[in-house]
Amino acid sequence: MKKETICIQSGWKPKNGEPRILPIYQSTTFKYDDPEHMGSLFALEAGGYLYSRIQNPTNDLVAAKICELEGGVAAMLTSSGQAAIYYAIFNICEAGGHVILSGKIYGGTFNLIAITMKKMGIECTIVDPDASIEELHKAFRPNTKCVLAESVANPSMVVLDIEKFAKLAHDHHVPLIIDNTFPTPINCNPIEWGADIVVHSTTKYMDGHAMSIGGAIVDSGNFDFSLYPEKFPGLCTPDETYHGLIYMEKFGKAAYITKATVQLMRDIGACQAPQNAFYVNIGLETLPLRMERHCRNAQAVAEFLDGNEAVDWVNYPGLPENKYYHLAQKYMPNGTCGVISFGLKGGREAAETMMQKLKMVAVLTHVADARTCILHPASHTHRQMNDEQLNEAGVNPAMIRLSVGIEHIEDILTDLGQALI
Ligand SMILES: *Cc1c(COP(=O)(O)O)cnc(C)c1O
Repeated sequence: MKKETICIQSGWKPKNGEPRILPIYQSTTFKYDDPEHMGSLFALEAGGYLYSRIQNPTNDLVAAKICELEGGVAAMLTSSGQAAIYYAIFNICEAGGHVILSGKIYGGTFNLIAITMKKMGIECTIVDPDASIEELHKAFRPNTKCVLAESVANPSMVVLDIEKFAKLAHDHHVPLIIDNTFPTPINCNPIEWGADIVVHSTTKYMDGHAMSIGGAIVDSGNFDFSLYPEKFPGLCTPDETYHGLIYMEKFGKAAYITKATVQLMRDIGACQAPQNAFYVNIGLETLPLRMERHCRNAQAVAEFLDGNEAVDWVNYPGLPENKYYHLAQKYMPNGTCGVISFGLKGGREAAETMMQKLKMVAVLTHVADARTCILHPASHTHRQMNDEQLNEAGVNPAMIRLSVGIEHIEDILTDLGQALI
């Protein structure tokens, strides 16, 4: 099936007399007639549902749809994108391990890995995504367990050379984890280009309406952890909490997601509420339509800003002069997403004036939903800093982040145009 069809028809497939729409299994637990059967579920001898912290049918059906869209073999939902990234790494990297992180990525991911996971004994090295292969090789250590990068970085809009990063990771016998939140599987499938694991914040375009926080992890099943048992003992040596079973031996290509589910979800419990999974599923149904419109509108806005006298620079990979235009054409020829950043000639002050003049476009700390919204970090999230401090923190004082929605393009341009005068 094509992606448009998967978005509608995959996941919940009702049988005779069953509800047309994905049911919300609003139940913490599940009933079994035979205690023997329940025992075998606890021992992972049989598949089935026990307790919604670990698995829930609504969540699994939505995860299955995302899995199919990404071309993976197994997937799971998590309570947030942050939880997905944490699980994706911690599932294969414990205290004493090392992670390679592409720079210029989402601030939340940076904080999680460079600051919080450091307290758990996990080190990281931040690399420049545009560095040469030779330079990037130097970042690896014997205890490196994975490489993590964003296919399109939030908010820097750096487009990753996924093939380069996949080869690099594989040369060092570790998997490549890609955060594919911005382009979504509609515009980019990192697994096709060699990525091993894909994570999402479903909070963004997948949900698409700013309704619910959520995350997802998809495994391609392509990385054979059993080839490197010393590097990945969690997957290749017995888990005493399940009578000594070895995930790679018992579950093969599904081992990574199974371990994250029955071990990390069991112990850490960052599960998604089935109600939220239901919302994500509704969002997924229209994702292809919305992504097409987000990209078309963003392209028009980027071109409009590019031609406006008050505008100093525009950063959008759909503009041919953009540094990442060619990578975007290769990995996501139908478009990247709706996020643009730009700066005004009048700098920080002009940005503040513009924000005040906007009538429809709302000032919000959110991106990637149906409504156009805008943020000027220097006057909002980083308000307390002066220009010098901002530059030190890597935030251009003039930078405005615009998330183009799916309203009519004329209304978006009219509002931006009147605010720029
Ligand atoms: C928002 C975002 C996250 C974090 O997701 P939450 O659902 O807010 O926890 C991670 N990665 C990227 C690229 C994001 O945009």
